[in-house]
Amino acid sequence: MKSKVQKSKKSASAGRSSAAKANPILRDVSRHLMNTYRRSDMIFTHGRGCYVFDQTGKKYLDFLGGIAVNALGYSYPDLVKTIRREAGRAVHVSNLFHNPFQGPLAAKLAKWSGMDRVFFTNSGSEAVEGALKLARVAAKKSGGAGKTRILALENSFHGRTFGALSITHTLKYREPFEPLVPGVEFVGFNDVADLEAKFTGDVCAIVIEPLQGEGGIFPVSEAFWTRARELATEHGAALIADEIQCGLGRTGREFAYQRLPGMPDIVVVAKPLGGGLPLGAFMASEKFAAAFSPGLHGSTFGGGPLVCATGLVFLDVVERKHLLANVRTRGAELRAGLKRLATKFDFIREVRGEGLMLGVDLTVEGAPYVAEALKQGLLINCTHEHILRLLPPFILTAQQVKEGLNILESVFANTERPAALQATPSTTVAAQALAAAR
Ligand code: PMP
Repeated sequence: MKSKVQKSKKSASAGRSSAAKANPILRDVSRHLMNTYRRSDMIFTHGRGCYVFDQTGKKYLDFLGGIAVNALGYSYPDLVKTIRREAGRAVHVSNLFHNPFQGPLAAKLAKWSGMDRVFFTNSGSEAVEGALKLARVAAKKSGGAGKTRILALENSFHGRTFGALSITHTLKYREPFEPLVPGVEFVGFNDVADLEAKFTGDVCAIVIEPLQGEGGIFPVSEAFWTRARELATEHGAALIADEIQCGLGRTGREFAYQRLPGMPDIVVVAKPLGGGLPLGAFMASEKFAAAFSPGLHGSTFGGGPLVCATGLVFLDVVERKHLLANVRTRGAELRAGLKRLATKFDFIREVRGEGLMLGVDLTVEGAPYVAEALKQGLLINCTHEHILRLLPPFILTAQQVKEGLNILESVFANTERPAALQATPSTTVAAQALAAAR
């Protein structure tokens, strides 16, 4: 037994870089954190506005924003002030009691979204779980015990917990954890005929990201959304919009579904809502929300005073500083600049997205460009191996758009061209559906 433990420690240490061996923080990471993330050796210590700094003091322009979380960048003064104030009052009181901020934040979210009622969670996945539970219980009450099937889309991402994972399409995330929640079926992305074939009377919910994020920045088509809305109404099922990545201003609208006709029944949000603190929510129209009664759902931490006060400030700043307009303007500039780069570099297949949620689809592997960008002081990431993803803060300036584009141009010019990628089945399907929808 002892020799087995020693052996596994040895093989783990063999994989560590020399920087990790020398730095006590990275040594602790490699010995004691579960092995779930592939990360470079830098340690980010602080940030200001759209820039973040590592332990050596090197500055990076952040076009990733903590994966769509830091919509107001780093250490935004109003957020800092509120977090300081409320940390000195009450961080937590539990949901056995009211706090001063949960109701007002729910009211503001209802106004933004057109929904009626809100439930607060601590993450996106947890909000997805709650939305699925609400849709199930509402459908069972109205349509009987058998109304339990859930439809999701190919190329989707909804989170890592069992329910959210069950409606996430990517096989490599799902397969190791099977069996997952039963009763889930995937519909071809933007494939209206497939939707019509699978949307039967026993469906309780269809879950759609109006603009797919992790899947590679693919917009759901108006024809698909419209038909999903009609079928959900016809069968008394919930149309659930997962707006965790694309919502709360990211596309230059309050919600990405506002690009499309018809309202969802349930909306799921998280990422930027807590100004960097963990806060998510699912919201519903009265018709669906009415299916919940005390005891059917709950959370110890969800919607505490500190996070809700911060959430209120986030939404207030977006309104007061006209950040939706800024997202649209900066997004258009960034998109135009990326399109210019696409005419210069033949390995850029397509530039997609809306507002400050943009994807640069490459015909080659994206990871070397992400690594070179990091070297040159720009944070971006890559999804599905070949789609560079940009999710900068809403406070981005015109000067920072130029700065980011200049770095990207230099990155594209100075990175040795990686091997062409084999198309993955999911992105091929999505790309075909996208092409068909145009
Ligand atoms: N849905 C979407 C659309 C997401 O982008 C994400 C996170 N990338 C999630 C759900 C899961 O959110 P979380 O990581 O906060 O659980």
